[in-house]
This record gives sequence, C-alpha cells and structure tokens, in this order.
Amino acid sequence: MGSLRDVHGCLVDLDGTLVRGQQALPGASAFLEALEGRFVIVSNDAEHTPLELSRGLKRLGLAVAQRRIVLAGTTALDEIALRLPRARIYMMASKSLMAHARDQGLVPVQTRPDIVFLGRDRQFSYERLTIAANAVRDGAELVAANPDLVHPGPDGAIVPETGALLAALLACTGPVPHRVIGKPEPALFEAGLALLKLPKRAVVMVGDNPATDGEGARRFGLRYFEIRDGVFPLLGSAPPQHESASLLALSA
Ligand SMILES: [Mg+2]
Repeated sequence: MGSLRDVHGCLVDLDGTLVRGQQALPGASAFLEALEGRFVIVSNDAEHTPLELSRGLKRLGLAVAQRRIVLAGTTALDEIALRLPRARIYMMASKSLMAHARDQGLVPVQTRPDIVFLGRDRQFSYERLTIAANAVRDGAELVAANPDLVHPGPDGAIVPETGALLAALLACTGPVPHRVIGKPEPALFEAGLALLKLPKRAVVMVGDNPATDGEGARRFGLRYFEIRDGVFPLLGSAPPQHESASLLALSA
C-alpha cells in the first residue's frame, strides 16, 4: 500500500505514456506541469540524444529540458566512455549516437573494436551484422542499448527495435555475455534517480509497460503507477491501495 502524499518526484516513461507516435497524449502536458519540474523522463530510446528529444517534445507542446531526459542509447555510451575512456567502438546506431560517442571521446572504428554497440540502427545490414558478429567472436564486449524486440507503430504496425537486432547478432555468435542498459535493467532508473536527487521512497515510476517500466521499478525498489487510458496519477490525491487500479480510481 502506498500513498501519493509522500511522492516528491516521478520517473516517467515516454512512448505510450507521454506521447504516441507524433502526438502528445491527452493529459501529458498537465501532468508534467503538475510535477513542477520534479520529474525525469527515462526512455529506452536508442536513437536520439536528449537535446533532439527535447526539441521534438517541444513541437508536440511538451516543455522538457534536455537535462530531464535519460535515454538508453546515450546513457549506454556515457557509461562506456566512463569505464573505458577512448575505447574503440563498432557502432550499429544512428548518426546522432555516433556523434554523441565521439563527443564522449569514444573512437568509432570498423575493425578491431573493444566494444560492439547496438542501438536502433535503421541502416542495419548483412554487412554490419557480419562485422559485429566477428568482432564479438574475436573478443569485443557487446553492449545493447535496450532489450526491446519491437514497439507499436501507427495502426498496430510492427516497428523493430534494438533487441531484435541483438537477437540476430546472438543468433550468429551463440550465447555470449553482454550488457543491456535499457529498462527493465537498473541503469536508467539509477541515472534518473540521481538527477531527481530524491530517495527511492519519495519517487514513483510512471509508465505504460509492466514488463519494462513495472518490472524494472520493482527490481530497483521503486513504486510503479501504470498509465491506462491516459489517466495520470495526481499528486496529493487520495492514497491508492493498488497501483494501476488506483489510477483508474483517481480519475473518478
Ligand atoms: Mg512506454
């Protein structure tokens, strides 16, 4: 049982929670305003930088500073740069993430990488798969930005995600140890919480996906509120008994 009265900040998922496709969801803007800056967006996005996303959200009517955005792709690269400064990295990723890697001092290469990095690579190809699989076989460390296989597109279309590319690579290499950064793993929750500067007991994860947002929050030790039908938790409202049910109750 938890009360929303002692909630002082939120980690908030993006896709399906605040936006869907190219539209802000109803209530998203009001929800963020009600939080008065006490939130950080934590998203498995493995393609953009926080600055790009901040600009994109502004076009949708959501004002979110880039310092309030934690993304799987850039977080993964930041972590690699911290752990292995100037590492040689083979990147299957967007141009934005390539530029971010260089900004962090990493060195994108085509041969003999220390790291093979998987983001949402829309130029994924047989050639890239060949290079990545052989680099991993030769001992490069494998890092994937997120484990998601797909996400829903317009009219229920299947949009392949980073995890699908990871599955292709692992099909070639066989099972190898690898690191995954996105939810439900703890890295994004840790980064978000550090930005909020709040204890876990004062923070709630708000999301739409029980397998990533919910499971990740549970493992990390955060309460979880699930958005359903665009109903957002209202801070200071009646204490809920059960997380997702309570959101429906709060809308009454
Ligand atoms: Mg989501």
